[in-house]
Amino acid sequence: MPLQFYNTITHRKEKFNPISDEIVKIYTCGPTVYNSAHIGNFRTFLFEDLLKRYLIYKGYNVYHVMNITDVDDKTIKRAKKDKKLFEKLTSKYSALFMKDIEFLKIIPADIYPKATDHIEEMIQMIVNLEKDGIAYLSKDNSVYFQLSKDKDYGRLINLNLSELKSTDRVIDDEYSKDNPQDFSLWKSWDSEDGDIFWDSPWGRGRPGWHIECSAMSIKYLGEHFDIHCGGVDNIFPHHENELAQSISVTNKPFVNYWMHSEHLQLKGDKMSKTQGNFYTISDLISKGYLAEEIRFVMLSAHYRTKLTFSIEQCSDARSAIQRIKSLYNRLINIANRNLSKFKLPSEYQDFIASLDNDLDTPKALAIFFKWIRSINTKLDNDQDMNNGEINGGIEFLNIVDNIFGFLIKENFAPQEVHSLAGEREKYRGMGDWETADQIRHKIYELGWIVEDGSDGPNIKPKK
Ligand code: AMP
Ligand code: ZN
Repeated sequence: MPLQFYNTITHRKEKFNPISDEIVKIYTCGPTVYNSAHIGNFRTFLFEDLLKRYLIYKGYNVYHVMNITDVDDKTIKRAKKDKKLFEKLTSKYSALFMKDIEFLKIIPADIYPKATDHIEEMIQMIVNLEKDGIAYLSKDNSVYFQLSKDKDYGRLINLNLSELKSTDRVIDDEYSKDNPQDFSLWKSWDSEDGDIFWDSPWGRGRPGWHIECSAMSIKYLGEHFDIHCGGVDNIFPHHENELAQSISVTNKPFVNYWMHSEHLQLKGDKMSKTQGNFYTISDLISKGYLAEEIRFVMLSAHYRTKLTFSIEQCSDARSAIQRIKSLYNRLINIANRNLSKFKLPSEYQDFIASLDNDLDTPKALAIFFKWIRSINTKLDNDQDMNNGEINGGIEFLNIVDNIFGFLIKENFAPQEVHSLAGEREKYRGMGDWETADQIRHKIYELGWIVEDGSDGPNIKPKK
């Protein structure tokens, strides 16, 4: 089965075909930095990390942009009319977000553009929409997107605009989730904004939330790119409106695959900052939980199903991870580290097939843990495992870890280093010492040392 993803816009799973063979371009909606991100937000960010890690594992190069929403109704409200306070607030929560990203071992995006650094690009887009008669200026100097000018509006939520009566205007970021309305592209200044404003052809004001992501995604990924992600609450109105604006400006398709993760819930309700029912990453750290345990809880459910969070799940994750680590150690202890020889277990194919099927992590992990049980039984019963099988097992564990990031392996080299060590063994076997030494140097640059022991190479961290 080829790699396929569920595409929100077509409502079905589709084979993944990137626009270019060279690079897959991904845009993910980042945090609104008026507060600490909660673990619900991180469920979405971890889903995006899994997607990215899996694409990398499949051999794609990925270019990933995640924006930082550092201006919207909520940030302005919290800054209480004071631009200095506003900047202090958003840089404080942006920094905390980056710390959490690092703690959770999320592969960083290639770039994290901030909305406030791209006001010019947003203004330019709005000017273009106005020129084409799609945007209009209201009496209060706000600029709106006119839904009736976009005959295909409703692409993502599958909505036929002609069936709808209401096209009232809406200026707030937080508005009714099921009522399409002319939405603001530019909001004119009012006294509540204090000294938080930017100049524009329509006077002082600030951009609407949706235009931020249109401007930044197009700037960094071009007018047509591969994947756009977010949580399901982003589908409408945020992504619907982003799509309408972008297509109206460029006349190009904008995004090929829209992927959305379901919500993390707490006691049956969506975890949310505004409701106040949430845990942050630092709440979990202070309870003693580790990054890999949080990763395990979030990634063991399929990204398109709701997940209800409880603290006990972190404890269950701890014992599951212990099982993985203990098998890793058992295999490392008995392995002859001549790593050029390995045979991946037959379960590997089923594991990959599950992930190819729209990242079916529950199925992939069920296969993986069944394999762990079978190998432990073999080892418990002193059944023979040949070297190829043992090294294949280690390789499988490394692959799972590269995709899921469940193990902290200060002392275990990544798959790339193992592969290089295997290569080096081949050259040593052929007596090509020069190439073998070059590979040893490459391994060193990656932070590892290869020592040749009587039973094959031993890989240690450089320190
Ligand atoms: P925000 O900071 O509110 O702009 O949200 C950042 C990201 O987190 C967006 O992609 C949201 O869709 C996502 N998100 C918000 N709440 C949850 C939740 N409870 N579960 C999963 N994702 C969420
Ligand atoms: Zn966005």
